[in-house]
Amino acid sequence: MNKCIEVSDKNFMQVYSRYQIAIEKGDGVYLFDNEGKKYLDFAAGIAVFAFGYNNKEYNEALKEQIDKVIHTSNLYYNVPAADAAEKFNKATGMDRVFFTNSGTEAIEGAIKLARKYAYNKTKTNDSEIISMNHSFHGRSTGALAVTGQPKYQEAFRPLINGVVFADFNDLESVKAKVNEKTCAIILEPVQGEGGLYPATKEFLQGVRALCDEKDIVLIFDEIQCGMGRTGSMFAYQDYGVKPDIMTSAKALGCGVPVGAFAATERIASAFEIGDHGTTYGFNPLATAAVSKVFDMFESYHLIDHVKEVSAYLEQQLDALVGEFACIKERRGKGLMQGLELTIPAKDIILKAMDRGLLIISAGSNILRFVPPLVITKEDVDAMIAILKTCF
Ligand SMILES: *Cc1c(COP(=O)(O)O)cnc(C)c1O
Repeated sequence: MNKCIEVSDKNFMQVYSRYQIAIEKGDGVYLFDNEGKKYLDFAAGIAVFAFGYNNKEYNEALKEQIDKVIHTSNLYYNVPAADAAEKFNKATGMDRVFFTNSGTEAIEGAIKLARKYAYNKTKTNDSEIISMNHSFHGRSTGALAVTGQPKYQEAFRPLINGVVFADFNDLESVKAKVNEKTCAIILEPVQGEGGLYPATKEFLQGVRALCDEKDIVLIFDEIQCGMGRTGSMFAYQDYGVKPDIMTSAKALGCGVPVGAFAATERIASAFEIGDHGTTYGFNPLATAAVSKVFDMFESYHLIDHVKEVSAYLEQQLDALVGEFACIKERRGKGLMQGLELTIPAKDIILKAMDRGLLIISAGSNILRFVPPLVITKEDVDAMIAILKTCF
C-alpha cells in the first residue's frame, strides 16, 4: 500500500473518504501522484487553480513575499493587503473588504455584518436570514446554519438560529419567508455543491428588488462561481445585479488559503472598531497571492478565454448527453458545469482516475467539471475522449 495513504489514514481525523492516490506535484493542467502517474485535472483543487499548477509568475510573486515577511497581524498595515484590497474592490464594485483565511470564514463575516446592520436599525436581536434549499456555504456553525442541506447539519444542532429556507429560482417562495425580522437573503448566483444550478436573471432581479423595497441585505456567495469561473469576473456581473455583501474564496488566492467578504459603504459602515477580527486575516503572503492573481487575470485576458473555451466545453458535454442514455442533462455556467447521471457519479470518477483524468462530483449522481480556467480546447477534447471510454 502507498505509505503516504497509510500514514494519513492512521493519523487524520476521519471525515473524508479520499480517492486512493497521493498528489505529489502539478504542472499546468496536469497533476502527478507519488507513484509518478499523470492526470489531466478537471477538478483544479475544487475550483481553485485558475492558472493551473506550478505557474512560474505566480510562484515567483509568492517566493518574493516569503523573503520579505509572511505575517504581520492586523495590529499594523502591510503593502500586499493594501494592493489586494484596492484590486478586489475595483473588480467587485464593493467599497470595503475583509480578507479571511477560508470561504466559510467569509460567510461568517458576511452574516455578522448583516446582523450588525440590522441591529443598528432595530436594536433587537431577533433578526432572520433567508437562505436557499440545496445551497452550500461552508462547514463552520454559522455557515452551516445557512447551508440548505440537512444531512450536513443534523448532528451539530443547535446552530445559529433565525435561519429560514426558500426555494432557489422561486421568487414567490422567497417572498413567503420575508417578515419584519428578515435582515438578509443569502444565495449563490450559481449553486455549486448543491448541483450546478445557475440562477435565472428574473430571480436575481426579483430578489434584488425585494431587498431594496424592504431594506434587506442581499448577500451573494461567489466563493465557487466567482473569479472568472462563469465567464465574468464575478457571476453577478453577468446578471447585472449587485449584492450589498459578497463573499469570495477558492480561486481568490489560487492555492494560498484566503477568502474575503466585502460590502458597499452603506452596509460596511455598520461595523465598528472591534466588531470583527482574525490573526491571519489580511496576511501578506495570502494577499500577495490575491494581488498577483488579479494582475494575471488581466495579463492573461482570462475572462475572454473562459468565454471561448467554456462554449466549446458546453458543446462537447451536450454531445455526450445525446450519446449516452445514462446522462440525464448538462447544467451550469462557464467553466462550472455538471452532468446529471442516472448512475452513481463515483463509478465514472473511479474509471476516469484509472485512465488519467480527475473529475469530481456534486452529490451522488452529478459529475462536476471545474477545471483550471486556462484549459484549452485540446484539453477539453482529451477529457471528453477519456470520459467516453468510461461511459
Ligand atoms: C467551498 C464553498 C464554501 C466554503 O469555503 P471553504 O473555503 O471550504 O470554507 C462556501 N460557499 C461556497 C459556494 C463554496 O463553494
